[in-house]
Amino acid sequence: MGHFTYKVTITGRVQGVGFRPFIYSLATSLKVHGTVLNDTQGLVITLTTSAELLKVFLQKIEKELPSLAFIDTINTQKIDSKVFTSFKILDSQTHHNYSADIPPDIYTCKECEKELFDKTNHRYKYPFISCTHCGVRYSMIYDLPYDRKNTSMKDFEMCEKCNKEYTDPLNRRYHAQPIGCFDCGPTLELIDAQNKKNQLYQKNIVAKVVDLLLKGNILAIKGVGGYHLVCDASNDEAIKKLRLRKARPKKPFAVMVKDITMAKSLANISQAEENLLLSKERPIVLLKAKSKNNLIAPNIPYIGLLLPYTPLHLLLLSKLDTPLIVTSANLSDEPICTSLKEVQKLHGIYDYILDHNRDIVNACDDSVMMIVNAQEIMLRRARGYAPTSVKLPYKLQNNLLAMGANQKSTIAIGMDEKAILSPHIGDLNSISSIEHYEKKYQYA
Ligand SMILES: [Zn+2]
Ligand SMILES: [Zn+2]
Repeated sequence: MGHFTYKVTITGRVQGVGFRPFIYSLATSLKVHGTVLNDTQGLVITLTTSAELLKVFLQKIEKELPSLAFIDTINTQKIDSKVFTSFKILDSQTHHNYSADIPPDIYTCKECEKELFDKTNHRYKYPFISCTHCGVRYSMIYDLPYDRKNTSMKDFEMCEKCNKEYTDPLNRRYHAQPIGCFDCGPTLELIDAQNKKNQLYQKNIVAKVVDLLLKGNILAIKGVGGYHLVCDASNDEAIKKLRLRKARPKKPFAVMVKDITMAKSLANISQAEENLLLSKERPIVLLKAKSKNNLIAPNIPYIGLLLPYTPLHLLLLSKLDTPLIVTSANLSDEPICTSLKEVQKLHGIYDYILDHNRDIVNACDDSVMMIVNAQEIMLRRARGYAPTSVKLPYKLQNNLLAMGANQKSTIAIGMDEKAILSPHIGDLNSISSIEHYEKKYQYA
């Protein structure tokens, strides 16, 4: 049986989704030797094996794909023969011809959620727990390939424990770029309306925030792609205060619920809607409200609900037995705030800021969806769904840039056989929206 050396190039969403450890495990189990690496094109595997085993290898890749990955193309070519003595994961290669997809931000996976509430785990109650299969991606990426040095995690030096997981190809945090813990990762900070920092022990901040919310305070909470304004959705006075301070008398607010049971107490939910609420993307889903609530959603029969999608949300909601108003923190007609400096312009609206020190590189609002006639309808494409790559029916001669209109603006770039859509930016009625739009344009 003849052995040859093959170069397999895979494009699609293949970075930041646990693809290299998956290939490593697969190659090891099949006793195939070679290498795998990320580059700006996607993923490149070089291996020396028989044609038969290559076929099995490729079939297994398609069949056992990591849950967040998807493949656009697989290209296999025979190259000059090489001898390998093991299978290795190599450092990323950079050259300026981008075609790997930027992975979107996704929810906290079940395994991380389990560890979050496991007293014996070293990330017990750590509000930034994540792994190769979940957590922040797009909103912290400066550049491709998706490596830690190209993200806003670059300034956090890993502790010994985290580093051990990060460098073990069989660990579920192997090359998980947002990896961190209480000893080495991002931390929370509670700041009051007078800009005074609260000197609380890290592990006590969540309990304090729960207490503040239950007392009717409005908090600006830094999340994944921006800040939210948050208050107790069962406290009419708090909601009235938020509407008054935000000068937003009628626009509906989204509501975050602890779980599907709490969601069902507020809305009539079909199976398709339940699946959408529970999906990894965790969008806001517009649902038929059980009873009309003129404070949360004045004059409409719908309510927008979403489930917790970060460890911080899970921690807060596990302590609260009440839904939360969760609305983008921004001045009217401006994009979502992404830095402390920006959110402090909302002085007078919030009572406290719950901040953290991982920079938001790319702003991203919550996505909004709805089920109509059993079909998923995207009303606002953002977190979890953006950036999105759409396959075109033909190959473009030149790279294209498409710029959205004044209202509900987005940007798209086209290259080769695909178009990449930016998240929703919003209306361009203010200077800072236009600056934000220009930033996205530069990024494209
Ligand atoms: Zn996880
Ligand atoms: Zn650590």
